[in-house]
Amino acid sequence: MKTVGIIVAGGRGARFGTKTPKQFLMLLGRSVLDWSLETFSNHPEISRTIIVIPKGDLGAYRHLRTMNIEVVEGGDSRTQSVQAGLKIANCDANDSVLIHDAARPGIRPAIISQLVSALQRADGAAPALPIADALKRRTDSAVADVSRDNLFAVQTPQAFKFGSISKALDDAGSFVDDLAALEAIGGRIELIPGVAALMKITHPGDLEHLERLLSPSTTSQRIGSGFDVHAFGDGDHVTLCGVEIAFDRGLAGHSDADVAWHALTDAILGAAALGDIGDHFPPSDPQWKDVSSEVFLSQAVELITADGWCVSNCDMTIICESPKIKPHRDAMRRRTADATGLPLDAVSVKATTTEQLGFTGRGEGIAAQASVILIKQG
Ligand code: MG
Repeated sequence: MKTVGIIVAGGRGARFGTKTPKQFLMLLGRSVLDWSLETFSNHPEISRTIIVIPKGDLGAYRHLRTMNIEVVEGGDSRTQSVQAGLKIANCDANDSVLIHDAARPGIRPAIISQLVSALQRADGAAPALPIADALKRRTDSAVADVSRDNLFAVQTPQAFKFGSISKALDDAGSFVDDLAALEAIGGRIELIPGVAALMKITHPGDLEHLERLLSPSTTSQRIGSGFDVHAFGDGDHVTLCGVEIAFDRGLAGHSDADVAWHALTDAILGAAALGDIGDHFPPSDPQWKDVSSEVFLSQAVELITADGWCVSNCDMTIICESPKIKPHRDAMRRRTADATGLPLDAVSVKATTTEQLGFTGRGEGIAAQASVILIKQG
């Protein structure tokens, strides 16, 4: 299965009030469109990137074809433009397609990975932010409060199975966004946490605001480290980074004793100063007995995301004499990438022995350490 990115760069800037279409305005040394193009075309899970441009404007975009990016002219409406992109994408029904608005340059690789992962559970997915401001509805005679419970502001990219979105847009109608088309045919939709930096450029002042949000000097970073040990006990396998490895012993512990993911979970929580794994998932609580450590890891990612952070990369070291880690290393990286929403090239798993010294050297258990970098999201 593959994933295709479609970037809709349809506007001519008439509403924005500049002669240059807003996707060509400069933002921190690159055009607004280039921000999205670079993130999509460098993402390891995106196999092709297609740009939909305004009808009749092929000349202005011709240079992009030399960058190995496909360019297609759009239609009169946004729906028709997306359909033009889908037509040349020409995927299998089960392939994934991410439809993105070029006026949202603040797209980060982790959002793309999280959307691709969400499509394993849903027909469509999109980043969304809870509404922070109070909402009012004004009528001729009054202003009335509107509850903001369960209300979200939806961003792009919006991710779909190719078959579902093609069918949804084939049905008559023009839609406020692509998710609305999927809603109309009863598709299952998952919302993932959005980020402020994914804001849409609508007014001239928005460019200045985005410059502040995306400027490297104001992008704060945090480092975190984690360490964990589990002793060998009875059993016929150990679980490391979610991968079951056949072995003549198991690891003792309350959960599945995945020592590598416990170290990683602690590193993620630690980087955001959100305590440790024992605070959030105490071994005294029976609900965590025998649970998969993926629950701890994915909840740690959710906690730091809610706090405005995203994981940039992680590096784990597993310390033991046996079992041998190397044959399982790639599977462990893939499972960790799936569980955290990170691209594969941002996940490292290494292994070492302690030259038969100490408790790991005597084969009494496995130790693991992890480091992560978190990046502030907008
Ligand atoms: Mg542990």
